[in-house]
Amino acid sequence: VDESVREDMTKLEDTFPGISDRFRLVNRIGEGTFSTVYKAEDLLYDHYHNDWDIFGQAQEQEAWASPPSKRRRVEGEHARHKKARYVALKKIYVTSSPIRIQNELELLHDLRGCRSVCPLITAFRFQDQVVAVLPYFPHTDFRIQYRTFMVADMRHYLRSLLTALHSVHEHDILHRDIKPTNFLYNPDLKEGVLVDFGLAERQGSEYTGACLCTHQSYVRRSRILSSYYSKNPPAGGLSTGYPKNDSRSSRRANRAGTRGFRAPEVLFKCTSQTTKIDMWSVGVILLTLLGRRFPFFNSADDIDAMIEMSSIFGTRRMKTAAAMHGQIFETNVPTIGEKGYSWEKLVKWSSCVEDLTESEQQATRLLAGLMELDPTKRLSAEEALQHDFFTNPVH
Ligand code: ADP
Ligand code: MG
Repeated sequence: VDESVREDMTKLEDTFPGISDRFRLVNRIGEGTFSTVYKAEDLLYDHYHNDWDIFGQAQEQEAWASPPSKRRRVEGEHARHKKARYVALKKIYVTSSPIRIQNELELLHDLRGCRSVCPLITAFRFQDQVVAVLPYFPHTDFRIQYRTFMVADMRHYLRSLLTALHSVHEHDILHRDIKPTNFLYNPDLKEGVLVDFGLAERQGSEYTGACLCTHQSYVRRSRILSSYYSKNPPAGGLSTGYPKNDSRSSRRANRAGTRGFRAPEVLFKCTSQTTKIDMWSVGVILLTLLGRRFPFFNSADDIDAMIEMSSIFGTRRMKTAAAMHGQIFETNVPTIGEKGYSWEKLVKWSSCVEDLTESEQQATRLLAGLMELDPTKRLSAEEALQHDFFTNPVH
């Protein structure tokens, strides 16, 4: 372990009373805007060791390594007894508001027992510091695995992710930040777990306003009509996409999420966002896998993202989508056509192949159902799981 990581772990052990009595920190495994995640060994684990043996789970990553039929029981046990030898300690930064922290823990609590959702074991607080404890889930970095994925691997990956989302959405919860780093996939188990409910919220909740926005730029740009691209061509400035003195009142909508994974209705600042926004993000992951390009979308901001989207869909469909959310879409970017391209063509271009196999074509049809501009027509997790790609796969 790196010296600076060691120091960081010692600091947590020193400033959080009692934590070192229960956990031995092993490594730092994640560092984000709102948290740092450590792998740790639960020192109390041995007290329970015998219970695990009932399930033949003597080894280290027991809860996950058992066959699916047994795993269900173990997961149930897991939720009840709340133990695992190796855990992920998620230290949530004090800069995160208390409401936000409470929200994340509450939603995780509601989702306990849901398949493919990482269960919350417990959480500790000392003064303003909060540490959530989750079972450690061994997984492979998406950046390493996406290029090697065969269609069969994509099927396992997506089935697991959609299973998680089906449960989450059944609870009327939007995850809001579906992307590869928040879905930990284990290629040996052919399963993954959904993590990071830091931006999640209940569908239709009041708490969807700008207070949750992660990007300061939102405030600065609150006067942009986001769809208003280059109606007035820039007079030499960088601020191409929107008029300088727009007197129209701004629209506030939750834009939380990650660049490149935001659904069109989020970009169009739709104020009644549904669980379908997560389905779009699943589509982006599938596009990444089929197109063998990560990240697939690489926009600097929402305006850029909209340009990327319009290069695919064409202006006609973008205008219709904008109108659906009471917005107007205009662009004078010369490379954006009226018609757009088919998904099949895009996947071929992106992955540099001449022809798609039948199974790739089938996956591409699922992709089209996920990356549907109109959220009401976009597949739900339940519908996606019923797609031929899963129920009637061609090989
Ligand atoms: P953040 O809000 O900082 O993104 P996450 O909950 O997404 O926090 O965790 C960050 C990273 O930590 C994940 O991308 C993953 O690599 C690692 N991680 C989180 N939870 C677990 C877990 N239960 N098992 C293994 N690794 C985990
Ligand atoms: Mg994350």
